[in-house]
Amino acid sequence: MRFVVFSKRSVIAVAVAVAVMAGIVAAACVSASVRAVASNGMTIVIDPGHGGADGGVVGTDTGKKEADVNLGISLSLRHFLREAGYTVVMTRDSDVDLASPGESFKQSDMRRRKEIIEQAQPDLVVSVHQNYYPLRSVSGAQVFYFEGAETSADYAERMQNVLNAALGCDRAAKSADYYILGCTPYPGVLVECGFMSNAREESLLVTPEYQRKVAYAVYSGIVALLEWDSSVARSARFPYGAPAAAFGEPVTFSGHGGVTQP
Ligand SMILES: [Zn+2]
Repeated sequence: MRFVVFSKRSVIAVAVAVAVMAGIVAAACVSASVRAVASNGMTIVIDPGHGGADGGVVGTDTGKKEADVNLGISLSLRHFLREAGYTVVMTRDSDVDLASPGESFKQSDMRRRKEIIEQAQPDLVVSVHQNYYPLRSVSGAQVFYFEGAETSADYAERMQNVLNAALGCDRAAKSADYYILGCTPYPGVLVECGFMSNAREESLLVTPEYQRKVAYAVYSGIVALLEWDSSVARSARFPYGAPAAAFGEPVTFSGHGGVTQP
């Protein structure tokens, strides 16, 4: 039997190589763990509108469901936000509705979304929808805030400005009584990213590339409005962790119902 005898030099060389490899692995692990936990301390709820039995509006030319476009944009938005250190809570991350059997569908679905928001206690709620209007020439991203909610109005205005610049439209933020915006005291905006009734916009909205572009624009808007707000003492204006009463009783469950005025 022959024993393999390592020279002292080769033992040292192997030891050095092992140490280098261990270092590389350790560095990779550290960087992965730092990446996973590098939170910026802010929580965003993304609410992809509709889903499951509720497809939302339907594209005039493609027949594609709004719910699917909303989800595609929302998943990309989650990616961008997580990369930037935000904690993201989704009301849904697949093609499902949130309604419980035996209850009124829309009310049950929306109530579940409300519960998710309340549990998350977010810095911002972003509800993602697509618009529809009988006049096919109407186009452009439109941001809504809940009537009388001052912080959300400021946020919506800033989000609208970013979307106008990024997507080449020219709209002003509007107030509405949408349930998802008024059902909790947390600030929120509802973004109608484009019109599924406009030929050009619909053809873009159904593509993953444009969905990513819209998601990045919304992400940029979120960063812009939260940075702006941190400079005007957001915490002094909004009592985190101690939800006050919601803004009255919101009346519109459907988001837009397909007839939002442009
Ligand atoms: Zn919708």
